[in-house]
Amino acid sequence: MNLIDTHCHLSHSRLCHEVSEVLSRAAAAGVSACICASGDLREAQASLAIARRHPHVYATAGVHPHEAKNLAPETLAALDELLGDPLVVALGEIGLDYFHDLSPRPVQREAFAAQLALARRAGATIVVHTREAFDDTMDILRTSGVEGVKVIFHSFTEGPDQARAALDFGPAVSFSGIVTFARSDALREAVALVPDDRILVETDAPYLSPEPVRKHSPNEPALIVHTLACLAQVRHADPAALADATRANALRLFALPEE
Ligand SMILES: [Zn+2]
Ligand SMILES: [Zn+2]
Repeated sequence: MNLIDTHCHLSHSRLCHEVSEVLSRAAAAGVSACICASGDLREAQASLAIARRHPHVYATAGVHPHEAKNLAPETLAALDELLGDPLVVALGEIGLDYFHDLSPRPVQREAFAAQLALARRAGATIVVHTREAFDDTMDILRTSGVEGVKVIFHSFTEGPDQARAALDFGPAVSFSGIVTFARSDALREAVALVPDDRILVETDAPYLSPEPVRKHSPNEPALIVHTLACLAQVRHADPAALADATRANALRLFALPEE
């Protein structure tokens, strides 16, 4: 098995004190690289610091909808600078979250649009977080002028219709442990229709431990193998071949200097 965890939060307080151990368990499980996602500037700087210390670890930089209320013009300038670092491989995670509503919705929409404009100028790959806000997310994407920029829908939780809409817009959809949950039938229908060259897999660690280790907390990149196994089963695919496909997709979409 050889795959890439395209979205984990290694700088999170649940994981940051044992990053080396987490990464060696990941390597033993067949995870050859990790992309350390970020939801605010502090996390982006911490993710980048981890990426600098550990080979095969990359970072993203962006302001999550939860933190949208704290997005200032200086924040955008700082993100722009971070995107210039070769280890920062995407702008994200950005988007809308109407489930938690930790920032007012109009503020979330404004922060999302402002960061999309930055991604367009910088030509950066975009990692989108959308939760109970799919239609608004797509409306903002469609009017943002980011066609041609690579938009990745992370921890996808929607059904087949939304998966088709996402694939009409962006090159890839990424699935987390949520696909392994009993209630995720519609999501597994979505999994089945994503082409091999447009699927990614992630943990979103320390959150979302997959079945059958759902009670294992914190989640960590090594546990991605359970999500990969579920994806392979749903797609009637050979797990190792699917792992290879997701890895090739991650290398291409995030322009990772591996191979
Ligand atoms: Zn997210
Ligand atoms: Zn995340």
